Amino acid sequence: MMETKKTERSAEELLNQIFEITSNLYQEMSKDDDTADNDHDAIFRLLTDLGRTLVNADRASFWKWDKRKGELWTTAAVGTGRITIPEGTGLVGKALAEKRTIITHDPYNHPDFNANVDKSTGYVTKSILVMPISNCKGEFIGAYQAINKLDNDGKFDLEEDTKRLSLAAFICGITLESESFLDDSLHDKLTGIKNRMGFYNDYNKTYAKILSDVTCVRSVSLFICDIDFFKKVNDTYGHNAGDAVLRNVSGILSRNARGCDGVYRWGGEEFICILPDTDKAEAAEIAERMRLLVKDSVCKFEDLEIKVTMSFGVTCLDKNLSIEDNIKVADERLYHAKERGRNIVISE
Ligand code: GH3
Ligand code: MG
Ligand code: MG
Repeated sequence: MMETKKTERSAEELLNQIFEITSNLYQEMSKDDDTADNDHDAIFRLLTDLGRTLVNADRASFWKWDKRKGELWTTAAVGTGRITIPEGTGLVGKALAEKRTIITHDPYNHPDFNANVDKSTGYVTKSILVMPISNCKGEFIGAYQAINKLDNDGKFDLEEDTKRLSLAAFICGITLESESFLDDSLHDKLTGIKNRMGFYNDYNKTYAKILSDVTCVRSVSLFICDIDFFKKVNDTYGHNAGDAVLRNVSGILSRNARGCDGVYRWGGEEFICILPDTDKAEAAEIAERMRLLVKDSVCKFEDLEIKVTMSFGVTCLDKNLSIEDNIKVADERLYHAKERGRNIVISE
């Protein structure tokens, strides 16, 4: 009888590995909301590991297609943080574009293989399998990538390994879809920036933590701003022109904010910018810069050229107040800005 290679697993071993991953998965999913990231990262990591175990590969990663940004990204590959590539590039991009599983056993000679990770880490990729993953509607929304098959002489088998991955891929598809529903619920459809729910989500995840850190002296400021006489824009040029103005203004605010700042559509023609490590005077300066940018911009819509101004209320967050009460302070200042004739920043 031939000796079984060390890399071949018994059915029982495999079942135990699957069981362990599944029970971790349940634990992760039943975590209460305060401790969960609510971006499913841990779940994706476990599902990636499940896929890797099922096809018996050395490494695996799960790639998500961010259609909003036109890029593919993963967190589960080597190292920490996100690896991002433009959509349509690499083996993952190719598998998604061609809607089929791709296997290569000669990656360094494959035109779509990106050897940069190997070059920087010294890892040697010998075989790759990339399987696109679809949601319930059959739309492709991500891909599984398994690297270096450990058994079967290091060769992936298109039919066998696709079958083995199918259940993990199915669960991944559903998880990814639920993540994209969550993402949609945090963004505003018209302008593409985050909405009020996105604000509270980021506030609880990031800014509230900065404020509640007793050892920390960092200040967080915010301003709320509102388009002046916006109703007149709708009444004069129509609702579609009004929509174009909202997109133009949100674009100016988000393009000119710093990377650490958050820009949100608070509702209607009102926006909030939250500014970490910023005191009130600095926040007022940023608001003033935004005010001038909006005032000097022209929104082109069909053959119209529409100009608007905005009023601003600034506050430095008081850690003893709730976020609602802090916003109320900024909102009162915005109200004074309106009373004082509009197109002005008020921070006292
Ligand atoms: P003020 O200078 O005092 O802020 O006056 P205003 O006209 O800007 O404020 P008002 O609250 O009277 O009107 C806001 C208008 O914004 C009314 C509403 O129809 C319009 N609006 C809210 N959301 C949208 C939207 O998504 N698209 C468009 N086109 N209009 C919107
Ligand atoms: Mg207004
Ligand atoms: Mg308003």
